[in-house]
This record gives sequence, C-alpha cells and structure tokens, in this order.
Amino acid sequence: MNTKILKIDENNIDTEAIREAGEILKKGGLVAFPTETVYGLGGDALNENSSAKIYAAKGRPSDNPLIVHISNMGALPKIVREIPREAYLLAEKYWPGPLTMIFNKSDVVPYATTGGLDTVAVRMPSNRTARALIDAAGGYVAAPSANRSGRPSPTVAKYVIEDLNGQIEMIIDGGEVNIGLESTIIDLSESRPTILRPGYITEEMLEEAIGQVDVDKTIIDNHSGQAPKAPGMKYRHYAPKGNLTIVEGEPSAVVEYINDQVETLQKEGIKTGVIATDETAAKYLGGDVKSAGKRQNEEEIARHLFRILREFDDDEVQVMFAESFPHEGIGQAIMNRLLKAAGHQVVRVTSPDKK
Ligand code: AMP
Ligand code: MG
Repeated sequence: MNTKILKIDENNIDTEAIREAGEILKKGGLVAFPTETVYGLGGDALNENSSAKIYAAKGRPSDNPLIVHISNMGALPKIVREIPREAYLLAEKYWPGPLTMIFNKSDVVPYATTGGLDTVAVRMPSNRTARALIDAAGGYVAAPSANRSGRPSPTVAKYVIEDLNGQIEMIIDGGEVNIGLESTIIDLSESRPTILRPGYITEEMLEEAIGQVDVDKTIIDNHSGQAPKAPGMKYRHYAPKGNLTIVEGEPSAVVEYINDQVETLQKEGIKTGVIATDETAAKYLGGDVKSAGKRQNEEEIARHLFRILREFDDDEVQVMFAESFPHEGIGQAIMNRLLKAAGHQVVRVTSPDKK
C-alpha cells in the first residue's frame, strides 16, 4: 500500500486534507494523526473491520481494547449505557484533554473495538487536527498509539512512518506532540473510580474533581500478583531494543554507579546510553548521554522520554541506564512507563559516605 504523508498545522488546518482523511476513515481505512498525548492510529470505532485492521497494522494482541475518540459531549450517549455523575464532573474539568474514561458500552460499539469487553474507553482529545478529523470521520475514531505493538509510543511523525509506512492509507504529520505520554485512564464502570493507567492528569487532579479514587496496584508494582484491569498494561511495552536499567538513589551515587558500569561496558565494546537530566548530564563521562530535561520540570521529562528511547534504538545502543524520578504527580506516569521499558529492572545504590 502507498501511504500518503501530509503535514497539517493545527493552528492553520487544511480543511481539504482533513476531509480527505475523514473519507478514508469512513470507508474503513486507517489514518495516523497527532493528538496532544502521542500519535494515534485511527479507524472508524463503530466498524469492526476497521478495528481488525488496526490490530493487524500494529501487531497488537486482539484482547487489548482500543480507546474511542470523540470531539464533543453530545457524542457520548450513543456509545455508553449510562453516564455516571463523576463523568460529567471530570469532563467539565479535563475534557478535551489527556483523560480517558471507561464506561459500560452500548450495543453500537463492536466487541472488535473493545477487545471483547462490555466496557468502552472514551477520550476527547484537545489537539485541533485530531478533533477536526474525528468530525470529518463521523464522530467516533478508535485510536491506539501509532506504533508497532510493544515499541515506545511515537511523539513525532518520523517514528509513525518508521513503524507503519506502507501499511495504512495516510499519516498526518503535525509536528512534535505536547505531552508525550499516553492519557490517564480512569475506570468509571464499577462502584469506585479507579486509575488504570497514570498520565498527565494526576491522581490529585482527579480527586480534586470527584473525591477519592483508587489506583490499580499493578501500575507500579510488578509483584502484586494481580492482573492489571487495563488489559494492555500486562504486555511488555515501550520497550527499547537494548537493555535498560533504572538506577535509584542519591544523585551523586547514581552518577558514580552509572559511570563505573559504562566504563566497564565500553571496554568490552558495548554501546551504552544514559537517560540523564539537565542537572547531571555533564557529570557522565562516557556513553551516549541524553538529558530528558530539568528535574523540576516533569512535564518536560514526560515529553522527551519516548523520543529518547527511540533515538537510542536509532543509534543501536545496547545497554542503557536511566535516572529515577519521584513516584508523585506526573512522576507516577513517568516511572510507570520507565519501569515497563526497563522490564522492571531497577538497581538501588547507596551514597559512598553511607556505605
Ligand atoms: P493505547 O491506545 O495504546 O494507549 O492503549 C489503550 C489502553 O487502554 C490499553 O492499556 C487498554 O488495555 C486500555 N483500555 C482500553 N479500553 C479499555 C477497557 N474497556 N477497559 C480497560 N482498559 C481499557
Ligand atoms: Mg499504546
């Protein structure tokens, strides 16, 4: 298949291009497009053949449900059985935006879209290109991240092209995304609202809107013995090609440990990389050192993380080390993704004077 690649600026939308993309979706084809979180691989959410094509293009296990994207609240009643009070409160504060809510589904949503579940995940993105495309496609666009299953989610179109060129009808290049991590997922289909995947909308922000929320324990803890409630969270994710280890501890001890490891590995001819921060980057003595941003600015770190993992892949880095981040606020989402990327490989170091 010949994939058409189009640049669209969300501040100056080419309506003819959007119309063309919408027609592709209406006819059951696939279009990758930018959202504020990561790039999405879109198909008509109410067409089971489109959903089947999404799974095939991504190589995604078919029990891993898709998120349905809408552009306005008026679209919600058709696809869900009921709208709990919390959904209105959350939508008021955080839609359009990086928040996905799970509802009991109505009959119009095919099981091919929900991975066989009776619930459906719904998000209203804020990116203007995404919103225009949803409208042009008839209102309901299923869109998982636009990467081959298991790889880091694309935050620039280059990596969508790398994974999906030749397999889908169109890729819309809207530049670098703003947030860089996938949406927060909250389940509203059961009695207690529960966070199934952390993201930019933090636990505290959700509690501000609806009071206490539960957190699925499997988000950070690999040994809880439970299966994650979001089926997709059980799969290996965000995985770089090389081997990644997270190093925890006091900053100077972390730098010292990583420098020692890198020196040894480089002597053996192994290509190494370090995910550092602005505060520490200059202290690393070897390897390919990439700063994700300032420690104080977690939004910046979130935005750069997946791209750095992809760049290490481009450079065929074999062994990587990452600094660790506090598990609070957006840090909860950053660490959730990093831990998955590292296959939960974590080393804790103590500072030299405490040895
Ligand atoms: P992605 O679209 O690649 O960001 O992945 C979507 C995530 O949402 C996966 O982890 C899915 O398991 C999760 N998800 C989608 N629909 C549901 C649902 N109905 N119930 C629980 N998790 C869901
Ligand atoms: Mg994904």
